[in-house]
Amino acid sequence: MSMNTTSEHRGPWTPLEVSASRFPHVHATGETFTSSDPATGQLVANLATSTLTDIDDAVDTARTAFNRSAWARDGALRARVLFRYATALRADEDRIAELLTREQGKTIGEARGEVRASAGMIEYYAGLARTVEGRVQALGENVHAVVLRVPVGVVGVITPWNWPLTLLVRSLAPALAAGNAVIVKPASLTAAVSVAALEPLVDQDELPAGIVTTVLGSGGTVGDALVGHPDIDMIAFTGETFTGVQVMKRAADGLHKVALELGGKSANLVFADADLDKALAGAENAIFTTCGQICTAGSRLLVERSIHDEFIARLAEKARLINCGDGLDPSTRLGPLVSRQQRQEVLGYIEVGKQEGTLVVGGGPPADGDLAEGHFVVPTIFTDLPDESRLVKEEIFGPVLAVQTFEDDDEALAMANDSEYGLAAGLWTSNLNRAWRIGSRIEAGTIWINTYHHFYPEAEVGGFKRSGIGRQQGIEGLHEFTETKHLNFDGSPTLW
Ligand code: NAD
Repeated sequence: MSMNTTSEHRGPWTPLEVSASRFPHVHATGETFTSSDPATGQLVANLATSTLTDIDDAVDTARTAFNRSAWARDGALRARVLFRYATALRADEDRIAELLTREQGKTIGEARGEVRASAGMIEYYAGLARTVEGRVQALGENVHAVVLRVPVGVVGVITPWNWPLTLLVRSLAPALAAGNAVIVKPASLTAAVSVAALEPLVDQDELPAGIVTTVLGSGGTVGDALVGHPDIDMIAFTGETFTGVQVMKRAADGLHKVALELGGKSANLVFADADLDKALAGAENAIFTTCGQICTAGSRLLVERSIHDEFIARLAEKARLINCGDGLDPSTRLGPLVSRQQRQEVLGYIEVGKQEGTLVVGGGPPADGDLAEGHFVVPTIFTDLPDESRLVKEEIFGPVLAVQTFEDDDEALAMANDSEYGLAAGLWTSNLNRAWRIGSRIEAGTIWINTYHHFYPEAEVGGFKRSGIGRQQGIEGLHEFTETKHLNFDGSPTLW
């Protein structure tokens, strides 16, 4: 395992001040909190918390903008604003990506990729903003149904810290394209980069004032108050399943619409007939991207027994070679976990794994040195875990892989579906019939066949079982932020 030190790729840093006076779209006048760099502990930003009055103001502002501006009815305006936003974000890649790495910890290459992917998502929905279409149907002699697609209204978008830009725009862009007003509540750990990334949107003269606002602070108070606010129409939430359940219960009081993108424990199935070089790269990418902190992480690797030993030996060798260290060093492939607490939780799972299974590689933080202040955990692989192990059942959100074996297709399918989650799965085989048969029976929203973790704005994603409700991306993602309304035109001579 090689380690990248923190000193040589870091310029000086002046902490960002994130408050209403610096960022007018932010409604936050309460106590200060901070965000820090997970690689070094350095202060990244000072931020203000939203008070209950700030949240009321943000919702009032959004409601007024939604009711009084042309936003909801002018698709061409929405397209122009979103296209300009995407262009500005692309132009600002250096600054936003550096801030993302400093605040979240991910590698600078991944951070740049996240900025570009976010811009691509915005461009896709900018194109759709002019195509929010309904339908007309003849129902009888001179009777017509006109079914309109209209925006839901005022939408709260609550985001997690692991992909703070992509997961923000994945809800924000379709919500805006459909004509809604949006109040953003980013995760506190990555709130500064979220606020900074919204600037090129809210700075535009053509965006009606108040269509996008932001509130800041903890989920339990600020997030909860937003979800329970009587004048919110919808909450689009991305985060843990446990939190999603709380959000849904809270939203039920006001009968607010919810879209929930939640946790996962995705199975990645490798069959003996697969292209094994490609499958190895896929297995590595599936679990170690974003240091395992990704909802679709292929954290359960299911390998056909006949190739198990050789495949795992080769995968362990690859894991040993992963550069772990400061994300700002361009040669780093695995950054730190996002926080001390996250690292404690991951280390707790590793201790359980050591008692229940066989540790193949990794198994803790790197040796001390320049990385001692950061929240690092090295790539870790366990085999021989019992089926009921917490490492097999629970979302760890760290670079920890649980390997299981199967004998045949039926066992592989049964094991893949033996989970309360259903977000994604991977399938590696050269047999097209098997790919189709098993792929179509896995209970998950996205099934990658001979690939993993490739997302496209055009292709919808979402969770089965306890991984969520609703769909994002694609045309389905746009429709999630609309209601249909039926105007019934009756031109017949009599009613009875
Ligand atoms: P989290 O649930 O702790 O927090 C997510 C957001 O919800 C944060 O902004 C938080 O402040 C807010 N929040 C917390 N409690 C709240 C409450 N009671 N009411 C309203 N808002 C509240 O999740 P996290 O730790 O930030 O992110 C990691 C989790 O997110 C993992 O479980 C991961 O699988 C999931 N995730 C899912 C997807 C997906 O697309 N399905 C994508 C990324 C992450």
